[in-house]
Amino acid sequence: MTQQCTATAKSTGERCQNDAIKGGTVCYQHGGAAGQVQRKAQERLDKMADETTADIQADIADLQAEYEAAEDPDTKVAILSEMRRLWKIILDRTGHGPTEKREHEHSGEDGGPLMVIERGSDE
Ligand SMILES: [Zn+2]
Repeated sequence: MTQQCTATAKSTGERCQNDAIKGGTVCYQHGGAAGQVQRKAQERLDKMADETTADIQADIADLQAEYEAAEDPDTKVAILSEMRRLWKIILDRTGHGPTEKREHEHSGEDGGPLMVIERGSDE
């Protein structure tokens, strides 16, 4: 999901051809590197993630109420596992899921080979 930088290049008077920073409207050269701009961009991304998962969050809220009302332990366990499944969907959609979580590690001297450790699901 990239957007073209909205700034106009002073030298040519034409629109900048660079991609805007993720979630933002301008590229790094046109202020995208500034902390304030990056914060705004992150807020926008968070908001988008909230909107895509709003329906699931509503389902989780319903399940939470069911869980609190349930008395049978088996029912409670079933509700919990369903809540867990929904949370995983949210985490996946917002880029925080287990498949997205990576750790980069350098080993050896001068950078060495790049090791990518992928955390699997805990199931
Ligand atoms: Zn630009």
